[in-house]
Amino acid sequence: MRKLDEILEFNKKFVENQDYVSYVSDVVPNKKLAIVTCMDARLIELLQKAINIKNGDAKMIKTAGAQINNPFGSIMRSVLVAVYALKAEEVLVVGHKNCGMNSMDPSKVINEIKSRGVDDKTFEIISHTGIDVEDWLKGFTDLEEEVKRSVNVVRNHPLVTKDVPVHGLIIDPKTGELELVTNGYDL
Ligand SMILES: [Zn+2]
Repeated sequence: MRKLDEILEFNKKFVENQDYVSYVSDVVPNKKLAIVTCMDARLIELLQKAINIKNGDAKMIKTAGAQINNPFGSIMRSVLVAVYALKAEEVLVVGHKNCGMNSMDPSKVINEIKSRGVDDKTFEIISHTGIDVEDWLKGFTDLEEEVKRSVNVVRNHPLVTKDVPVHGLIIDPKTGELELVTNGYDL
C-alpha cells in the first residue's frame, strides 16, 4: 500500500475508535513554552518524554538542525506568534547530538538534486537572483556554538522583549539526556 493511502486508512480508524480522546487539549500551551528543535525522526517522541511535555503543553517548532537563520524567516515568525498570540512565556532552542545538519556537505545535496534531473541552468538562474544555494543549504560545524547563535537570534530580536527567557539546550537522541548551553534566566 502506498504511504498516503496507509496514513488515510489508519486515520479513519483512529477517529472512529476515538483514539484522540486522551490527546484533547487547548491551543494555548499549558506549560507556556515554545520549543524550537530539529526535525530529526529520533526526537519525535523522545524529546517530549525526556522533558515531560505532553500534548497541549508546548508549541513545537521544528526545522533542520534547530537552526534559526533568518530573523524574519518562518521559524522566527512562529516563535513570535507563539509568544504574542499563544501566550508562550519562555523559549527553548534544543539542538541535538549527531545532528544531520552538523557538518552536512551541501554539495552532496546539490549533486543529489542534479542526479534527479535538475539541470545546471536552474542553479544558474537561482544564483542570478542573489541566492547562494550552497550557503543556504549548509549546516553548522559546532553544535554548541550553533545553539548559542540561534538563541541569540531570538534574544536579540527587535520584536522580542527582555522578559522572555530564551534557553539553549542539547539533547542526546539516544538517551534523552539534556545539556544546558544557555540559561535564559541568567541575564
Ligand atoms: Zn538534527
